[in-house]
Amino acid sequence: MSTQKGNTKKSGGPKYKNSSAFRNDVHDTSWKTKQINSMEITGLCSRCSDVIAWKIKYKKYKPLTQPKKCTKCQQKTVKHAYHIICIKCSTEAKVCSKCGESGDVVKSPGLSPSEQASMDSQLQEELKMLPERKRRAFLRNQELGLYEEKDKDKTVEDDIVDEDVEGEEVYDGEKKDDHIS
Ligand SMILES: [Zn+2]
Ligand SMILES: [Zn+2]
Repeated sequence: MSTQKGNTKKSGGPKYKNSSAFRNDVHDTSWKTKQINSMEITGLCSRCSDVIAWKIKYKKYKPLTQPKKCTKCQQKTVKHAYHIICIKCSTEAKVCSKCGESGDVVKSPGLSPSEQASMDSQLQEELKMLPERKRRAFLRNQELGLYEEKDKDKTVEDDIVDEDVEGEEVYDGEKKDDHIS
């Protein structure tokens, strides 16, 4: 016999919110995964680059073990998996190197390895400039997948969620001025 309520329902949301983005390298730090993750997606139309990005993200991307024959120049110059046209031909013909469609090819061949390296070291420099607390917050956020590549243009500092700032209450409706007490 009990006077306490046994089965009070929990209020509030689920205990664990799946708020962080999916990351494919949390438990896999292998060289191959790193290589694939750091790979630039170039010379593709937006649809195809989305497909490749998806494959990379969810580890469906299978790199080529040897170059494939380009459907334009017939040379074994295709070095990226799923591509049918080599970068040179697709750049010249301004077509997507995966589906061969002309039109909205996203980018010309992107960062060279040295450019990539300098971007990386720039990030490291930015991190060094940060106060210890912010740097830790950044690394933690990154671990949780809160730091997204798409925000490349922003500085590191912009991405930091400063947990010390008290959240201002935001009313996204009408203000309740006529509060009756
Ligand atoms: Zn070619
Ligand atoms: Zn395409």
